[in-house]
Amino acid sequence: MNYDINKIRSYFPVLKQQVYNKPLVYLDNAATTQKTVKVLMAQEKLHNDYYGNIHRAAHYMADKSTADFEETRDKVQKFINAGAREEIIFTKGTTESVNLVAASFCEQFIKSGDEIIVSEMEHHSNIVPWQIQAINKGAKIVKLPFSDSGILQSGALQNLISSKTKLVAVTHVSNVLGTINPVKQIIETAHSKNIPVFIDGAQAVQHIPVDVQELDADFYAFSAHKMYGPNGVGVLYGKRKWLTEMPPYQGGGEMIAEVSFDKTTFSEIPFKFEAGTPNITSVIAFGASIDMLQDIGLVNIWEWEHELLEYATAGLKEIEGMTIYGEAPEKSSVISFNIEGVHSFDLGTMLDKMGIAVRTGHHCADPVMQHYNIPGTVRASFGLYNTKEEIDQFLHALKKVVQMFA
Ligand code: PMP
Repeated sequence: MNYDINKIRSYFPVLKQQVYNKPLVYLDNAATTQKTVKVLMAQEKLHNDYYGNIHRAAHYMADKSTADFEETRDKVQKFINAGAREEIIFTKGTTESVNLVAASFCEQFIKSGDEIIVSEMEHHSNIVPWQIQAINKGAKIVKLPFSDSGILQSGALQNLISSKTKLVAVTHVSNVLGTINPVKQIIETAHSKNIPVFIDGAQAVQHIPVDVQELDADFYAFSAHKMYGPNGVGVLYGKRKWLTEMPPYQGGGEMIAEVSFDKTTFSEIPFKFEAGTPNITSVIAFGASIDMLQDIGLVNIWEWEHELLEYATAGLKEIEGMTIYGEAPEKSSVISFNIEGVHSFDLGTMLDKMGIAVRTGHHCADPVMQHYNIPGTVRASFGLYNTKEEIDQFLHALKKVVQMFA
């Protein structure tokens, strides 16, 4: 494989450091990824050279900031192959993207007695916004379950859909189980009954090539900070048809055509959904992380990370008392596990002292924990800059911890 790991790691000098006098092994990429220096350089250049508020003033700084901001929209459009740049809306993150659709779609299309189907393996951010709206409207959330091996029972969808169903919300990739869901098939099933589908892509776009037109997704959401990009920026892709029919989510500057005390008319999409001054700095810098992902190539990243996944899974399985949650055949580079007799929090804390950064707890996916009747797991998640040597360090540290508890 043509994958220049040394060059890739050179984009992330932060990885070279030591923590507690041990080389840092950063395996918490599903929570957030480290930022490439290209992002930091883009932020610095903006502030040194031409920062201004966008879409408004007619001066050089504002014009240049506007052009770069809108260039990121073009890059995102290309990255997920959206049909039109107007279908890309910048938000604060996946969470805000879900809240936007939940509030606005439900306002327009949901009434008392309607149903929204949500999968059992969702992150809280793709459950709670729908619940809040369902309570407001007197609607109901219906659960699409997964099996003990972490596979979504997508075949059950056909039977769960009824005349009351108004939307299906499902994650592309589970942040706990790593399962890559057959979203194209799910969308086909839902569309055969004229039901739109919201896809949470927060754990997908940094690992696998995504083409929203090929999937025929109605909505697709993700966060820049999980893509080696800056904090505070997310994307909502929505089909023009829906975004045009949906009412604004928030009111304010930028999203209006004309305001008087009698009546306000709204801008066209995407601006209708981008009220107020957005996160100009981070959106512009986000362009640099998309460039990096495109340059390396999602297919190459997928292959590299898949090797890491297989290597780590094999190593973990050798450890006594090991339970791995999620063994779907189509899996991203996320492994959740527990070791008999050791609390996940203790494991994580001891690993941290050995320089290994993992996540412990419920991973904002309580229903997944409830499925297995456990309080939490340890989660190791690999990114494009991780190596087999790091996995060796992780496994070595883990074995030491297990010995200490034995
Ligand atoms: N969905 C999934 C699957 C996630 O993993 C996360 C982040 N952990 C989110 C949604 C929420 O993303 P953010 O916090 O960036 O809004």
